[in-house]
Amino acid sequence: MQTADQLFETLSRLRFGVDEENLRAYVEGVMPLVEEIQDLKREKNAIILAHTYVPPIILYSVADKVGDSYGLSKDALAATEDTIVFSAVRFMGETAKILNPGKSVLIPGTDAGCTLADSITADEVRALRRQHPEHVFVCYINTTAAVKAECDVCVTSSNVYDIIERIESDKILFLPDRLMGANIIAEMAERGVQKEILLTDGSCYVHEEFDPNLIPSLRESYPDLYVMAHPECRPEVVSQADYAGSTTQMFRAIASMEENRNYLMLTECGLVSRIEAEMPGRNFVGTCQLCKYMKSNSLEGIRRVLTSPREEDFVQIDPSVLEGARSCVDAMFRYAE
Ligand code: SF4
Repeated sequence: MQTADQLFETLSRLRFGVDEENLRAYVEGVMPLVEEIQDLKREKNAIILAHTYVPPIILYSVADKVGDSYGLSKDALAATEDTIVFSAVRFMGETAKILNPGKSVLIPGTDAGCTLADSITADEVRALRRQHPEHVFVCYINTTAAVKAECDVCVTSSNVYDIIERIESDKILFLPDRLMGANIIAEMAERGVQKEILLTDGSCYVHEEFDPNLIPSLRESYPDLYVMAHPECRPEVVSQADYAGSTTQMFRAIASMEENRNYLMLTECGLVSRIEAEMPGRNFVGTCQLCKYMKSNSLEGIRRVLTSPREEDFVQIDPSVLEGARSCVDAMFRYAE
């Protein structure tokens, strides 16, 4: 656990716009809650998994593991604790529960939705199955457990291209992200892989916002600009990026790059915060975007689920979908490793 001085030092590297005195007061004010949560974790034998996009205070004060949806799924699979607190959004907690049906999985976010996961239902997938019986159904991990149960294999932004390429069939239906789907089609063409890929109509409201017209003018203003984009962005954005990948892939890629350079990060602001905190020296231009669902996580929410969880804080999965959803997630691990 970080001391108050260490936490202050880490947070002071972020562009919060808070002066030193106010940041020091904030850290000192929050430390009793941090210590309470650390005690509760021990008492309840709980682990806290946190997505890069949640507020930085969670990442640097109480989280045991920080990462993207693929990394955190593996952490959930390896967890030995009785309780998993999943500080992210509900579909990620559902994946942890699919992998650990005997454990309690708790969601501290107060608005833990996701525009992608909310864009398609299991009934709609069943109807598509009837229309396209020869297609392999590939779902993005940003789907509910019930939707996963209707699909053959799920993917994350870190393994989507390789898994789609490795699937033996040349007929794929990818759901629910139409923008990532368009990026898959472009990437398969680039790799010389011939597959018919059908798409559905979901999108991430955060990544969809990035404007492709902004990139050329920023490149003009900053000739050394290095552009990184998440594959949930529009294809017109991804095609202009110097690097496209999941949050963890972008984080690792930037670690091996020059410090004194200008970067444009076309993803949720949490990644920029992590880089500022853990790899100071990079300069960021342009804007990132906030996900209101990820940012509905808080230390207070984590304390609440560890002390007096409400029924809706527990992830519950209908037993009738558990086996199908597990097989869909297991297929991802098989194809990915
Ligand atoms: S950033 Fe987009 S995909 Fe991720 S949780 Fe938020 S709405 Fe969903």
